[in-house]
Amino acid sequence: MSKFFSTKIEFLKGVGPQRAVLLQTELNIFTYGDLIQHYPFRYLDRTQFYNIADLHEDLPYIQIKGRVRSKELLGEGRKQRLSAVLTDATGELELVWFKGVKWMNTSLKTNTEYIVFGKPTLFNSRLNIAHPEMEEAAEVKQEQSYLQPVYSTTEKLKNHRLDSKSMVRIMAELLKVAAPQIPESLPPELIDQYRMLSKKEALVQIHFPAHTEKLHAAKFRLKFEELFYVQLRLLRQKTVRKADLKGQVFRNVPTLTEFYNHHLTFDLTNAQKRVIKEIYKDLCAGKQMNRLLQGDVGSGKTIVAFLTMLMASDNGAQSCLMAPTEILADQHYTGLKEYADKLGINLGKLTGSTKQSERRLIHEQLLSGDMKMIVGTHALLEDVVQFQNLGLCIIDEQHRFGVAQRSRLWQKNPAIIPHILVMTATPIPRTLAMTLYGDLDVSVIDELPAGRKEIVTVHRYDANRLRVFGFLREQIKLGRQVYIVYPLIEESERMDYKDLMDGYESVQRAFPEYKISMVHGKMKPADKDFEMQRFVKNETQIMVATTVIEVGVNVPNASVMVIESAERFGLSQLHQLRGRVGRGAEQSYCVLMTSYKLSKESKVRLATMVRTNNGFEIADIDLKLRGPGDLMGTQQSGVLDLLIADLSKDAKILQESRAAAQQILEQDPLLDQPQNENIRRHIQSLNKNTVNWSRIS
Ligand code: ADP
Ligand code: MG
Repeated sequence: MSKFFSTKIEFLKGVGPQRAVLLQTELNIFTYGDLIQHYPFRYLDRTQFYNIADLHEDLPYIQIKGRVRSKELLGEGRKQRLSAVLTDATGELELVWFKGVKWMNTSLKTNTEYIVFGKPTLFNSRLNIAHPEMEEAAEVKQEQSYLQPVYSTTEKLKNHRLDSKSMVRIMAELLKVAAPQIPESLPPELIDQYRMLSKKEALVQIHFPAHTEKLHAAKFRLKFEELFYVQLRLLRQKTVRKADLKGQVFRNVPTLTEFYNHHLTFDLTNAQKRVIKEIYKDLCAGKQMNRLLQGDVGSGKTIVAFLTMLMASDNGAQSCLMAPTEILADQHYTGLKEYADKLGINLGKLTGSTKQSERRLIHEQLLSGDMKMIVGTHALLEDVVQFQNLGLCIIDEQHRFGVAQRSRLWQKNPAIIPHILVMTATPIPRTLAMTLYGDLDVSVIDELPAGRKEIVTVHRYDANRLRVFGFLREQIKLGRQVYIVYPLIEESERMDYKDLMDGYESVQRAFPEYKISMVHGKMKPADKDFEMQRFVKNETQIMVATTVIEVGVNVPNASVMVIESAERFGLSQLHQLRGRVGRGAEQSYCVLMTSYKLSKESKVRLATMVRTNNGFEIADIDLKLRGPGDLMGTQQSGVLDLLIADLSKDAKILQESRAAAQQILEQDPLLDQPQNENIRRHIQSLNKNTVNWSRIS
């Protein structure tokens, strides 16, 4: 926004230096621009009242109109409280105050009609409202009967009389002086096309909506704009990159064709075929590929990786596949080696535990070009690892690798940057992927190979553990293996450790006839590996572990996953853990163990797991429950600092704004045509604002 909006907040009437400091420290509001973007977090509809009989504890803050029938002071001294009974035509409700009791007692009038505002909660199995806001009904003026903004404040602000109501006054003052200064930030055509409010009207209406429709229109306009600029930035990065970076062309596919026709033992799913075509198209384009491949656990990403590696070797280029752990690298190696041998391709493996002599040989063969493909861990990143012509890097389980590591891979081929394919089993909802990876192209395998048996998931209470153990015994007798997973959450690491050890002992006691492995995060990597390998080789039947086994491990014979304290896991984590089973031909099971005490949200998570195996559906629900900030790998993205748009709800607006941004960039890649002047100006002011953000943290 214009210079006017960088005006310091203390110069606004009704604020002054003292309050300005509070607004800065408590809410990060420094300037007029910051304040005008401090949107209400909800609106109180002064025309809507709840009946007391309809209240329940899951309601948010609500408004009731009723009479105070009686009031009394209860308790002594500091424990004294004021309890009042509110009645309406449908019932009665307790109101209670623990603070400011004396003052409230004198000011609260019985037999008077009040408008009461607060959150109903359950106390001793009866509903009440603690510290409601009270307004005498007679005093509420007619013109207040519209949507009243409610602003988030803090305890400290409230103590300095900066509650929501005073924020309303300050905001009204700001809009009075600021409204004439608000520049339009979207092109007029776009505003017409989507029939949006002007920027100025949207800002006025978001704070003081005339009615519900206007509020919706204001929200749409501001969300659209916010997402539009995020997408515009990402798309521009992408076009810049595409224009700048050349890539090798991998057009010939003789070996790939041979493999496909003679060696592939199963039919590819349609989703796999589609994804392979998408990749092949990229690799023929002469530009460097940066593609994210998403696919639920078991969807068959490995074969896609291998076919892509064949595209490289068929055109004289080398490729590497990098996994986050040694176990995973081993598994990939075993799988790919079988394919590579059939084709006579030299495929190597390089990890932390590769012997020095072997290492030297690998280094030589990579440099000479004799070795066409290599699978490994971080060890591949070391500077001594040099290639004759590295043309493709595949990274498995993306969230373990940072951007810095990606760029170290780039440097392995100074002549022409290798193509990058990032594979992840974390099913990120499409809306989120578009925003997070707007600079990557995204391919999705949204289909499992035919004939997979659905994993049967059940929820059992701790009290039924003996029966669950009985079930495990049956399964082990049938020759299967079992995982039992315990939570390990950092804040209470010690307690978790104790839980794990107690669990291990009780499993040992319950299954004296079987061998048991244990793996947890505090073990040395070598010990961990040793235990994992024992389980992989079926030398142990039960694996007691923390979430360290979450990522990628493949033991097809393990068919039961028991998750202890399942209520403490997030949905996507539960789904990842469950994905460790169901990899073989046998019917697999997932047992979610919990105590009886479950929050509403935990119940939703458990019910979702029991109902569906679909990773994308689960990810969507997860996003709704937790909000995007919490999802794996999204923390450092920065693009998610959204003020008003909500990725879990605004998928449609995201799509529309992305399409709009795309269209505008196609017509005017440099954004220097007159019709895009508003965009240009707005980007300039956004860039200035970036400097402002840095003063905050
Ligand atoms: P993920 O996507 O979790 O990495 P994998 O690539 O490990 O999955 O594949 C899981 C299993 O499914 C492997 O044993 C693989 O051989 C098999 N598989 C992959 N694609 C197909 C297919 N189209 N039909 C049948 N089995 C397949
Ligand atoms: Mg995999």
